[in-house]
Amino acid sequence: MSEKKCDPVILKGIGASPGVVIGPAFLLDYHKVKILRRQIEISEIDQEKERFAKAVSEAENQIKQLIAEIPEELREHSGIFEAHLLMLKDRAVYDRTLKLISEEKINAEWALNKALDHVRGLFEQVKDQYIRERIEDFEYVVRRVQKLLSGSPSVDLSQLEEPVILVAHDLSPADTIQMAKEKILAFVIDMGSRTSHTAILGRSLGLPVVVGLENAMSSILSGEILIVDGLHGDVVVNPDAELLRHYREKQEDYIRYRLDVIQYSNLPAETRDGLRFKIKANIEFLEEISSVISNGAEGIGLYRTEVLYLAHKELPTEEDLFLACKEVAERMSPFPTTIRTLDIGGDKFLSSVSLDDETNPALGLRAIRLCLKESNLFHTQLRAILRASAYGDVKIIFPLISGRSEIIQVKEHLEKTKDNLRREGIPFDEDIKIGIMIEVPSAVLLADVLAREVDFFSIGTNDLIQYSLAIDRGNEYVAHLYEPLHPGVLRMIYRIIEAAHEAGIEAAICGEMAGEPMYLPVLIGMGLDELSMNALDIPKIKRMIRMSNQNRCSALVRDLLEYSTAQKIRGHLLDFLTSDFPGEFDLDHGLYPDFVGRDAIPGPLMTERCLPY
Ligand code: PEP
Ligand code: MG
Repeated sequence: MSEKKCDPVILKGIGASPGVVIGPAFLLDYHKVKILRRQIEISEIDQEKERFAKAVSEAENQIKQLIAEIPEELREHSGIFEAHLLMLKDRAVYDRTLKLISEEKINAEWALNKALDHVRGLFEQVKDQYIRERIEDFEYVVRRVQKLLSGSPSVDLSQLEEPVILVAHDLSPADTIQMAKEKILAFVIDMGSRTSHTAILGRSLGLPVVVGLENAMSSILSGEILIVDGLHGDVVVNPDAELLRHYREKQEDYIRYRLDVIQYSNLPAETRDGLRFKIKANIEFLEEISSVISNGAEGIGLYRTEVLYLAHKELPTEEDLFLACKEVAERMSPFPTTIRTLDIGGDKFLSSVSLDDETNPALGLRAIRLCLKESNLFHTQLRAILRASAYGDVKIIFPLISGRSEIIQVKEHLEKTKDNLRREGIPFDEDIKIGIMIEVPSAVLLADVLAREVDFFSIGTNDLIQYSLAIDRGNEYVAHLYEPLHPGVLRMIYRIIEAAHEAGIEAAICGEMAGEPMYLPVLIGMGLDELSMNALDIPKIKRMIRMSNQNRCSALVRDLLEYSTAQKIRGHLLDFLTSDFPGEFDLDHGLYPDFVGRDAIPGPLMTERCLPY
């Protein structure tokens, strides 16, 4: 419990998706429920009591459900839950809470807390330690009701009535699917880095996002007014008039910048010396397709299909998957759509598909490994994607490939699925192109071998950097060590592109690096064929490609590959950016503007990331 604060506080995190918004905070707290006292009107009393009764009956249902799911061998311990059911309706808690709501005209959460304090007092007087400790059971059931009252995500996020800024430790994609998206103004997240899944999801939704704040949950109260500047990573709590004015100006700057840069959407992504790139979009939701088209993408370079698995409690049927893939393929036609098979696991949530809890999920039964183990699950996807290939230019991409034998198995499954469809007379593209994501270091070392087996590569730098530098992409404590310019990373990217070209196939990049202007000269210089990114990043990347010179970028890369530390590489790259893109990068201040605006991004991306490599 905490008192409401009034002084402005500025929290500093990692800007993960640009834009400035102002609005009330909504805390999504799974672990700890913050309880605010609210005085209610006489006219609200009945409604408040009803809300409390409803939460108790929901908690009752949850506990009954828990009891029903207890495995046979643990049945004898179900008594504890039966006791919880009784505690829910215990007079000292239930009746007392109702009484406090009407007598003191306070909200249910606060009343319930007072009732719990009363019970706690009673227990403290008991001599027997065992009985005294049973207060923990009361606390447990009260917490359950408090959660339902003040922040049950499945209920509240889908029923938000007013626009809010969502503040959370982290979001599961299940939360994001359920939330009333039109009511969410921004994400403010304690965990994560720019490449964590929540950051990517926020960008997909076009929301300002700040991640890696570490202490937002303990510094912000639900209902407090926040300003979120997703470019600079600022979260202002309880802003005063001066701060509001300052950030409103930034908001206007950003809007102006978007209007300016959007003009580049439909221009070709061609360097000054005539080298043309394919610029595509990454999507997670079908709702993004219109933004993909309006931002000038020439296809979908990565359709992350995981969301389809989280929209329902059960697994999606072949028909569900087929309809989604067909819709993307048709709407993007004649441009190509690259559909990724299920990449669940790692930082991407637990779901009904994940079988057991794993100690180290990022290295566990993730992505293609899960699909190869669960062949029915895999065949359903392959059938759906192949069927969709009759309706547009569809390609399939397989995530987290670590060696040749996985590709051989994948191809066997694919051939088997094609045979079945042929036998059933179901049309599909007989010549469908298949690719792999290169995101595991062993796949880099084997790139020449793997390139002979597939039609294209796409470099997943989010994971490639995570696995090669041993930096958890979702961990805010090591986010500053996540270094795309690490010489080891650059050599890997170079090696992948070289191996692809030697084998006569194309190399794309679909990690977040593709949408960051600062890395563009490096990617151009390495000879990449295609870049796939969040749709909103496309205009600014096209704009920058059109300012670039491929010959100069190639010379830059030759120099960068000679350096042995990230600092040296960064320093040289910054000099290059200053000379070749005057005005675009304000290097005097160690700044990296995502756009040319009032004041550009401080610190994290440049100055604070001086690494000891
Ligand atoms: C990547 O790893 O770079 C990638 C594009 O895949 P995801 O972010 O979905 O893991
Ligand atoms: Mg990946």
